[in-house]
Amino acid sequence: MDTQRWRRRLLDKLGEVCAGIARLKAGETVVLADMAAPGQAGEGGVDPLTRLLAFKDLLNERLAALAAGEFGVCEGCGGGLSEAELDQIPWVARCSACPSDPGGIRA
Ligand SMILES: [Zn+2]
Repeated sequence: MDTQRWRRRLLDKLGEVCAGIARLKAGETVVLADMAAPGQAGEGGVDPLTRLLAFKDLLNERLAALAAGEFGVCEGCGGGLSEAELDQIPWVARCSACPSDPGGIRA
C-alpha cells in the first residue's frame, strides 16, 4: 500500500492548520471551511481555535498511526478503510458503513 501520498497530504494539512492557529492567535480571521475535521461541518458554537487545535491533534494522531503501521482502521467497526476513502480524506476516522460521529471528531 502506498502510504506516502497520505503522509504528504496529512503533513500539508497539518501545515495549513498550524498556520491557521498562528493567524487566529494573531487576531486574524481564518476561514475554516476547508479545515473542518470530519463531523465538524457546522460552526456548532465551538470557537475556531478550539476546532483547529482539535484538528491538529487528530492529524498528529493519524501521522503517528501511519508511522506505526496502524493507519486506515475505522474507529467505528475496527475494519479497514478503503484506499478510495483514504484518498478522499486521509484523516477520515470511519468507514462509509459506520455512522459518522455526531459529537465531533472523537469516537
Ligand atoms: Zn466502520
